[in-house]
Amino acid sequence: MSDITREWIEAVIGDYLKDPERNAISPGGTEPAFAAPLVGFCRGDDPIFETIKGHIGEFYWTPQEAFQQGFPDLTVSPDQLTVIAWILPQTRETKKEHRACKEFPGKRWSRVRHYGEQINENLRRHLETRLNEKGIPAVAPSLSPAWEKKKSPRYGYASTWSERHAAYACGLGTFGLSDGLITPAGKAMRVGSAVARIALESTGRPYEDHHAYCLHHARNRCGICISRCPAGAISKSGHDKVKCRTYIRQVTRPYVEAHQMGVPVNSCGLCQVKVPCESRIPAELAPNTAETDPPDSGHTHGKESP
Ligand code: SF4
Ligand code: SF4
Repeated sequence: MSDITREWIEAVIGDYLKDPERNAISPGGTEPAFAAPLVGFCRGDDPIFETIKGHIGEFYWTPQEAFQQGFPDLTVSPDQLTVIAWILPQTRETKKEHRACKEFPGKRWSRVRHYGEQINENLRRHLETRLNEKGIPAVAPSLSPAWEKKKSPRYGYASTWSERHAAYACGLGTFGLSDGLITPAGKAMRVGSAVARIALESTGRPYEDHHAYCLHHARNRCGICISRCPAGAISKSGHDKVKCRTYIRQVTRPYVEAHQMGVPVNSCGLCQVKVPCESRIPAELAPNTAETDPPDSGHTHGKESP
């Protein structure tokens, strides 16, 4: 019987982000990349994973299939597994700067896309290691050499494991018109996940509809993300992944290389700020228990989390 609890895992993730050297928006800098994280859990035998697979395509991994990528010789059943997902919210500074942008991403946003995603990768490895040290095999599916991009018959660009869908299953949010995941910390965030051989209680999903937190889907209004997109990639019909990708590849990526980072970065996310779901679930759609706009102070260097 393991002594590992959900609280222990939350502390591993939270403490990692409190470390100024690990959570820096630029190497050697003192400004944090992310605000305080949100963490959710879902049992590996939750039928939602088969439902997601059914929607996305046969290539999509269930938690059991994802786990076996890392531990092909271990025999596990889905009920022995837990999916752990986390939300890394953008900071107030990054959002403020990005709100003023119309065609190109803010500098901080691009840094988070580049260095912040490296932090997220390091966090995935860190959690794997900490669990492994406790005798619990764990994998971060998106780091698996077998992880790959795929074409979904129904949704176009897809992959063998989706961090956003893992977070959705873990009760951390639902999808918006622009395809972003609207979480209690909003959709201006990055997301990660791991699958561990440990049976933990699910957080629970305070929604039934996968669009429950989007004003367009739930109330037939808003659509502000449509006008935030300079590529015309969002409409009342949803998110055009091809237009979005083309804009990023042809416009923002070269811009970021030439004017911001010196390296090409797939940075954009203009549709994730200056919208009602940027930093919270829109108030009228939020469950009573929803948190809002987690304080950046949880990750300002040298300070305790409130
Ligand atoms: S901006 Fe409005 S329509 Fe777009 S995802 Fe957010 S809530 Fe939905
Ligand atoms: S990421 Fe950029 S191009 Fe893609 S939908 Fe959002 S605003 Fe449009």
